[in-house]
Parts: sequence; C-alpha cells; structure tokens
Amino acid sequence: MSSLMKAPANTPVWVSEERCKACDKCVAVCPAGVLAMRPDPQTVLGAMIEVVTPEACIGCNECELTCPDFAIYVADKKEFKFARLTDQAKARAEAIAANNYMKLA
Ligand code: SF4
Ligand code: SF4
Repeated sequence: MSSLMKAPANTPVWVSEERCKACDKCVAVCPAGVLAMRPDPQTVLGAMIEVVTPEACIGCNECELTCPDFAIYVADKKEFKFARLTDQAKARAEAIAANNYMKLA
C-alpha cells in the first residue's frame, strides 16, 4: 500500500479524487467490477472514479499498480479480508466495460 495516504478503517480500496484524472485505466483492469466512472461535470474529462462495489474487491492490486496518478489505494492483505472473485463480479466488470467504464444504472 502507498504511504501517500492513510488507510481508512475497514475499506478494501479507496481513491484520492484530487489526484484522479479520470483516465479509466483502473476500471479497465479491475476483474471484479469494483470500480466505475461516474459523470462529473466539474472535471476536465467529465467523469470521476468511484468505488461502486467495495465488498467485491479481491485485493489483486491491479488498480493501484495501473493508476498513472497514484490516485487509488488498496488495503494490505494483513489488514483486510478481501472477497473471492465470483461469476457475478466478473459479469459486472464486463457490463461496466461495455458501458464505456461508466457506472451501471
Ligand atoms: S484491488 Fe483488484 S479487485 Fe480490488 S478494486 Fe483494485 S483491481 Fe479491482
Ligand atoms: S487509473 Fe487513476 S487516474 Fe485513472 S481513473 Fe483510475 S484512479 Fe483515476
């Protein structure tokens, strides 16, 4: 885990909205459909990252490793009990990807 930000209690994955440039990269690599973009007219790209289903996070760290702006953080495996990857989570990830990485209605 990055030392740039203190881990909130009982949270598998969290974001720094000040750092996020809304590039979608973390959403694209998340296998569990945990992340998605929400519309945000205040930002340059008109979107902002959101942790939509934290309970589905498997702690794979792909999002943190992929983010070019160090805007997303994953809890330490010693500090958080992550979920297992389910078919439902995989299907949600596919649906989010098909929705241009925007959160599902
Ligand atoms: S750690 Fe893995 S499962 Fe959790 S949000 Fe990041 S990419 Fe998705
Ligand atoms: S990869 Fe980083 S900058 Fe890009 S959308 Fe995700 S959190 Fe934001």
